Amino acid sequence: MPHSLSPGRLPQGGGLRWKLWILTLLAALCIGLLAGATLYQSVGGFVRAKLNARAISQFAASFEAANHISAERGPANDLMSADPARREPARRRLQQYRARTDRSLRRLATTQLPAGLLARVERDLELARQRVDIVALLDPAARRFDQVQAAIDAMFAAWDSYSRLIQWQAAQLVRQDEALSAAVLKSMSLGNLREYAGRIGSYIVAPMAAGMEVPVANRIQLQIARGRLLELWQLLSPGIEVLPAADPVRQQHELARRHYLRHGLALVDQLLNEYPYPMDALAFTDHYVATMQPLETLRNLLLGQTLAQAEQHRQQAWRTLWLLGLITLLALLLLAALVLALQYYVFGPLLRAADAVFALADGDAEPPRARRQDAGEIRRLFAAMGIVSDRLRERARLTRELEQLAITDSLTGLLNRRAIDRLGRKALAGTRRQDTPCLILIDVDHFKAINDTHGHPAGDQVLRELAGLMRAQLRPSDHLGRFGGEEFAVLIEGAGLAQATRLARRLKRAIRHHRLDLDNGARLTITASLGVAGGPGLDWEQMIALADQALYRAKAAGRDRVRSQRAPDTPD
Ligand code: GH3
Ligand code: MG
Ligand code: MG
Repeated sequence: MPHSLSPGRLPQGGGLRWKLWILTLLAALCIGLLAGATLYQSVGGFVRAKLNARAISQFAASFEAANHISAERGPANDLMSADPARREPARRRLQQYRARTDRSLRRLATTQLPAGLLARVERDLELARQRVDIVALLDPAARRFDQVQAAIDAMFAAWDSYSRLIQWQAAQLVRQDEALSAAVLKSMSLGNLREYAGRIGSYIVAPMAAGMEVPVANRIQLQIARGRLLELWQLLSPGIEVLPAADPVRQQHELARRHYLRHGLALVDQLLNEYPYPMDALAFTDHYVATMQPLETLRNLLLGQTLAQAEQHRQQAWRTLWLLGLITLLALLLLAALVLALQYYVFGPLLRAADAVFALADGDAEPPRARRQDAGEIRRLFAAMGIVSDRLRERARLTRELEQLAITDSLTGLLNRRAIDRLGRKALAGTRRQDTPCLILIDVDHFKAINDTHGHPAGDQVLRELAGLMRAQLRPSDHLGRFGGEEFAVLIEGAGLAQATRLARRLKRAIRHHRLDLDNGARLTITASLGVAGGPGLDWEQMIALADQALYRAKAAGRDRVRSQRAPDTPD
């Protein structure tokens, strides 16, 4: 038998699965943290992009109102310079413009703006409109230039107060996201560009309407406005001129340069230098406003682009957010798959292999087997264990054989002396007082003569037959062995000396009545002498000695008889 593996001989505990799960949890935590931090940033980016897109679109809406305030000056100038016949249509047109301005201002009022700023704009605008209306009511003959100019200046003031509102919004936007400052700056520059262009025209229109040369104050204001306009143009141009020639912004920029900077401003210069004027105020307004048109288109285009960019950023941020979420999910799924695969393909089979090795060590007969889905390496491992299992079983078989040989007498197949000794000692060690084992020693009488007469092989045959004969007389629980030479022993458990003596007599009779047919054709009978011993308080050696003495007495008394330790002289 192979060594049995008692649990105490093995290191206790396992914990491989636990360690795997803890490692997995840590890895998941790391991925989670990493993903959390990235997602947090991405969500922040998305929220900012969304807020930016909304803020820029609000900002663009604010510019719309500014444009409408600017644009009101055109029909106002017309009304103030119109003769009575054209007054009504001019008034209607101005009403339409004013209604448009009011609508955009009302829309603005719904957004979050400092109430004071918007109220100020409304007050200044109302004041300017009153002035325009008063001047418009005057008889053209009585209308003075300074009155017209004051009304126009009041309209400028309304725009200026509105531009403070835009500045406030611009500051809010840049505070919200500094990256917006370029778009804010561009939008403001474009708004102002359009305003200054309008003002330049307005500085000329009033004196024209009054039929007088442009006064010095107006010329100074006009040059200031022109200087600012050109400065803004220069600031804006580099960013646009790098665009490809086919870009609509670049084309519009070129158009604005040709129409306004070249023709519009040239017209202004002409009117500043020519008096009497080569055209009337209305014709100038028509002409001049037409040259401003590309400026306005350019401004709208750029504003539209800024809006589109903000929207694009928002969408991009949204996509990034999705993508990151997806990647995180994928990473976690992959981790889970990895752990399950490890569990399924590595740890599970390894633990099974470990169990199989324990089973092998414990002498488990069933050889360990790999499963069909196991990986090649695992299958090889199990195949190797299968081989080990086969070898262990072979060794166990050989060991059993050796053990059998070690206790067997080779001639008769009975137990040998060593085995009988061991059994005897064991039986004596395990018995209670009343239930001691007994020993019968059997010695063939005059055996030497058989050898001498028939030869040694015949002697061997006699010994073998005798062994079979006696075995047939005994119970399976009685131990029969060859004690040496032509001497046999029977160890009887669970029987008293009297019973053992009776058994000895039965054996003696069986031997005496047995006919031996030798291989050489001779037929003979034999006898044997038997000594019986047993009883409480004996050790094995004492029991053998007593049985031997009894046997000796049997020989001495003439052979073919039984003597027992208790009643040495009793005849059989
Ligand atoms: P006794 O009646 O006094 O026992 O006389 P005996 O001849 O039987 O006793 P002895 O001790 O003089 O002789 C025993 C003989 O048994 C001697 C030996 O040659 C023979 N013998 C011992 N072992 C074997 C064996 O294995 N095979 C054979 N054929 N003979 C054996
Ligand atoms: Mg003998
Ligand atoms: Mg003998």
